[in-house]
Amino acid sequence: MSSRTPLMAGNWKMNLNHLEAIAHVQKLAFALADKDHDAVEVAVLAPFTDLRSVQTLVDGDKLKIRYGAQDLSAHDSGAYTGEISGPMLAKLKCTYVTVGHSERRQYHGEDEAVCNAKVKAAFRHELTPILCVGEGLDVRKAGTHVAHTLAQLDGALQDVTREQAATIVIAYEPVWAIGTGEVATPEDAQEVCAAIRGRLAELYDQELADAVRIQYGGSVKASNVAAIMAQPDVDGALVGGAALDADEFVKIVRFRD
Ligand code: PEP
Repeated sequence: MSSRTPLMAGNWKMNLNHLEAIAHVQKLAFALADKDHDAVEVAVLAPFTDLRSVQTLVDGDKLKIRYGAQDLSAHDSGAYTGEISGPMLAKLKCTYVTVGHSERRQYHGEDEAVCNAKVKAAFRHELTPILCVGEGLDVRKAGTHVAHTLAQLDGALQDVTREQAATIVIAYEPVWAIGTGEVATPEDAQEVCAAIRGRLAELYDQELADAVRIQYGGSVKASNVAAIMAQPDVDGALVGGAALDADEFVKIVRFRD
């Protein structure tokens, strides 16, 4: 059995204003109060405008819900209107930041160079990137999904040191399964997560590859999470739609119960 602690992260996307966020995190806190927090790590990835409220709730709470942002600027400060920097997220004590989510790649043209710059920006400020990789439907149909996903990984990890890479989280998110209700089979998830681990061993070494957590994301729900989590190379889930329902997300976190 793997010694990697599963990470269940809720990606709220552009949902929940700061008052709704407070109510939601309070519900999670109440429902997870008796949870063994060393067994599964729980995180919420909130809109920027919610982070201060979430911080205030979670601060000093023995509950250990971690939180983070869904994006950051590649730059640390300056004339980048509308952007949010790594130092700003670090000041709010964010643990995580997603980089390269398929919605950022699709709607904001984020390519490998941008993802690489953002991964490095996160590491500069001691934020843990959750690097999202995964193929679209055309690539899946062509059967080149593994090569495609590994090329995204290679691009995002250019010049990332071993010390940095040892703390990264990778989320394998096949784009055709995000928000579609079309969940990948556990075997689909395992195939690519194992290939990602293999590539990490090639890029760095086996010890690092064995330690890095690799999540699956794409229409994860309480009803399918256990089968996905039973795969040896899947170390958690990045959950979108189902994370907006606190009761459902709690069931996902409690996948072993
Ligand atoms: C996501 O937003 O990363 C995601 C996986 O969404 P969903 O769970 O809704 O497919």
